[in-house]
Amino acid sequence: MSAWESSVSYAALPVSESPTVLGKVPQAFSSGPGQALPERAELMPGIWRLPLPLRDSPLGHVNTYLVRTDDGYLLVDCGWDTADTLRALEGHLRALDIRLPDVRHLVITHIHPDHYGLAGRLREISSADLSFHRLERLYIESRYVDADELLSEMREWLRLNGTPPDELDRLNRGSVSMMERVQIAFPDRTLDGGEEITCGRYAFRVIWTPGHSAGHICLYDARNKVLLSGDHVLPHITPSVGLHVRTTSNPLADYLDSLQLIGRLEAELVLPGHGEPFRGLPARTDELLAHHQRRLDEVIELLSRRPGVALSGYEITARMRWSRRRTWDDLSGFERRMAVTEALAHIELLHARGKLQKRYGDGEITYLVSELE
Ligand SMILES: [Zn+2]
Ligand SMILES: [Zn+2]
Repeated sequence: MSAWESSVSYAALPVSESPTVLGKVPQAFSSGPGQALPERAELMPGIWRLPLPLRDSPLGHVNTYLVRTDDGYLLVDCGWDTADTLRALEGHLRALDIRLPDVRHLVITHIHPDHYGLAGRLREISSADLSFHRLERLYIESRYVDADELLSEMREWLRLNGTPPDELDRLNRGSVSMMERVQIAFPDRTLDGGEEITCGRYAFRVIWTPGHSAGHICLYDARNKVLLSGDHVLPHITPSVGLHVRTTSNPLADYLDSLQLIGRLEAELVLPGHGEPFRGLPARTDELLAHHQRRLDEVIELLSRRPGVALSGYEITARMRWSRRRTWDDLSGFERRMAVTEALAHIELLHARGKLQKRYGDGEITYLVSELE
C-alpha cells in the first residue's frame, strides 16, 4: 500500500517524502503513528544509526547518523523540534555513554523539519557547529519565518494553476503546524559541495544533490563505500519532488540529474534518511528514474487524448493516478496539494523539454501537448 493510504496525512507541504510509489510499502512505513522505532545500531565501526520518532507522520521516524571523530562526534540530521524527539536522541547518546556536548558537529542534509527542526535547540545545548548547503540557507526565512506570507503566496499560486476556488482553503491548510517543529538556526558554515569532512577513519565528500530540496546534500566516503543519502534516495518510498512557490524553477530536472550522478557511485551501503539501510544503490536509482519517466509519460498520454485542449496543472493532476485503491475524490486537501506540486514538477520538466506548451490566459496557466510532437 502507498503511504497515502495511511490514515494520517502529511501536516505540511514542503517537508514530506512523497508517498507516490504504487508498490508495496514494507511494514516500517505502513504501520503509521505509534509504530515501533527501529533499533539503534552501529552499522560500521564508529557509525551509528540513531532513529528518532516523527509523531503524527506516516514516515514514523527519521534516521540520524552519529559518527565518531577525533574530537568528539558528528551528527548528520537531527529530527524535528519536539520533546519526544529530543528525549529519544538523549536516550540514544546516554546508552552509548556519550554526552550531548560531545556532539561537536552537526551536518544537515536539507532543512525540511524532520531533518533540521531540532538544530537550533541542539546547538544551544551542545554548542555543536552547524553546517548545511548554501541554498538551504537561502530558504530559511521564506519557509519558516513568515507563515502568513507563505500561505497567501501559495494560495495565489494554487489558484493560478487551476485549483477551484472552493478548494483553495482546503488545499492550502497545514503548513503552519510544521513550523512549530522548527527552531530556526543559521549555519556556522555553508557548504557548496566538494568539501571533505574528515571524521576519524572516515572522509565524507559533500555531494550537492538538488531536487527534493534545492540545497540537499549527500555524504560519500569512497574508501569505505558508504553513502549517507538523506532524502535523495530512500529504500521504499519515492522522495517528493514538487514545484511550488519555494522551490527552484525546474526541480525535477535537478533531481533526475543528481539521481544519475549518485547512481554512479560505488557505494556498497546506503544510509537513508528514512527506512532501513540498504545495498544496491544503482538498482534503486534506476527504479526512481523509471518511476519519474512513467509519470512523465502519463502526463503526455493524458493530454494527448484530447489534442488541442489545454488543461491546468490542477486538472492534469486530478486525471493522474495517485493511489492503487483511492480515487482523486478520496484524497484529503493536503494530499491533493502534494499531488498538484508533484504533477507540476513533471509538467514543468516536459515544458522545459519542449514537449508541452504553456499558456497564460484569464488569470490561469494551462498546458497542452506541443504541436511539434
Ligand atoms: Zn525531506
Ligand atoms: Zn525526510
